[in-house]
Amino acid sequence: ASMQGPNEVPFRFGPPVAVTTCSIMFQDITTLLLDPQAFRDTIDLFVERYKGKNISVVAGIEARGFIFGPPIALAIGAKFVPLRKPKKLPGEVISEEYVLEYGRDCLQMHVGAVEPGDRALVVDDLIATGGTLCAAMNLLERVGAQVVECACVIELPDLKGRERLHGKPLYVLVESH
Ligand code: AMP
Repeated sequence: ASMQGPNEVPFRFGPPVAVTTCSIMFQDITTLLLDPQAFRDTIDLFVERYKGKNISVVAGIEARGFIFGPPIALAIGAKFVPLRKPKKLPGEVISEEYVLEYGRDCLQMHVGAVEPGDRALVVDDLIATGGTLCAAMNLLERVGAQVVECACVIELPDLKGRERLHGKPLYVLVESH
């Protein structure tokens, strides 16, 4: 795909610009953020879906889940909990390792941030293989929360990440093939 500048963003709400790095297509959501109306529309679609559903915690995955998660949490009256890469959170944490295409990675969550009975929404920008969302759900369920749904802006359906979510519902706005 060719690189497009911010003035050529080809959508109000549509697929983000894809930039080829190595052999994967990196889906760059930062172009969406350049268009305040498109960014607002994106957040509003999630808020419409989740308001009134008794969601008590929005868990955002580092790093781009920190862009979409907090405005959703504020709008639906839920707390926001960051799920971070290792050694970033200052307090006591629980950890969940997961397998990547090349190697392993890990997500951590502060102990006490999520409590038994919390109803959780997991937010990230994109699902590829599903390993990251799976680790996030494990963290939440280990402390007794109920994961209501996972929400992403973009799904790469060819990678079948949905099948790794153990039947948990996944809501996405855009599919990219
Ligand atoms: P996965 O665990 O394979 O589902 O990967 C999802 C995580 O990796 C998300 O946090 C994404 O931000 C990031 N990611 C994976 N593949 C891509 C891609 N092609 N473009 C942008 N982000 C990606």
